[in-house]
Amino acid sequence: MATSRRTLTGSPAVPLAEVVDRLETGKNRDDSARLEATRRFPVRWTRYYLDLIDPADPADPIRRIAYPEAAELESHPDELADPVGERDRSPQPYIVRKHADRAILLTTSRCHVYCRFCFRRSFPDGEHRDPSVEVLDAAIDYLARETDLREVILSGGDPLTLPDDELRRIVGCLAGIPHLTQLRIHTRAPVHDPARIDRRLVEALTSKLPTWVVLHFNHPREITSETRRVVSLFLEAGMPVLNQTVLLAGVNDDASTLEALCRGLLAQRIKPYYLHHPDRVPGAGSFYIDIERGKRIYGELTRRLGGGLALPAYVIDPPDGSGKVPVG
Ligand code: SF4
Repeated sequence: MATSRRTLTGSPAVPLAEVVDRLETGKNRDDSARLEATRRFPVRWTRYYLDLIDPADPADPIRRIAYPEAAELESHPDELADPVGERDRSPQPYIVRKHADRAILLTTSRCHVYCRFCFRRSFPDGEHRDPSVEVLDAAIDYLARETDLREVILSGGDPLTLPDDELRRIVGCLAGIPHLTQLRIHTRAPVHDPARIDRRLVEALTSKLPTWVVLHFNHPREITSETRRVVSLFLEAGMPVLNQTVLLAGVNDDASTLEALCRGLLAQRIKPYYLHHPDRVPGAGSFYIDIERGKRIYGELTRRLGGGLALPAYVIDPPDGSGKVPVG
């Protein structure tokens, strides 16, 4: 049904051995467990993202986001391979539909960097495979048949790992569907590999469909001078830019870090949209936090931001597939 058919479009990967050499002191090395973890979920680094880490800090939040640890081999009884209930909401391969008016198109399984907490780590069927051209076209045909739909969300994996020409083709097909009124693009490429974003790419994403770009920043140190350049390209093309953040233990689970993140995003003209409670992802237990603690952190964040434009909505995506609901 599906094959791995593409090479990834983006900056070259840094070899894992080089990442380990940079981040490990000799006596802390535990390569066998780390390698086993990378067999369960792929690993990939860009030099840009690696350079954001302070190698002297073993608890560095950027390191935690993307560096495999032996803890990934642990599992807990309440973890689910499909933690937000996508498989039962998939009427067509590589489509997820939880609402009548919108659907997610899973364009690829690839990412420029693989986040160790990712809820789609079993994408989409336990195998890390991309849709073939034929399977993707069948998914687009489904979107064309479903006249209740108004919005399509390009997701994955990261859709911006696809070549520009492929993205232009997909966006062109969607723009030709008369009942669609908007397009959303979910991407972490501006965080992991901002060099991927240039005028040619933005032009490939441009169509008659009003298009919203939803980014995924988790920590204020992910905001750099490159962020401003990338956001300007989207905004100049008329694409509003939002952000979703996952609340993650050891990364951003305190109001000060989240306040700095939200204020920093707004200063870059990115509207903080969602703060997601972490999902019960197998192997990601070290990122999980209790919901009561999450509510306390969000309460403090709300107080600090005065409920203003910088405040995202705190939501949870339950495993029954019913879709995001506000926490509390
Ligand atoms: S970039 Fe997104 S899809 Fe890719 S591993 Fe990270 S959270 Fe998952």
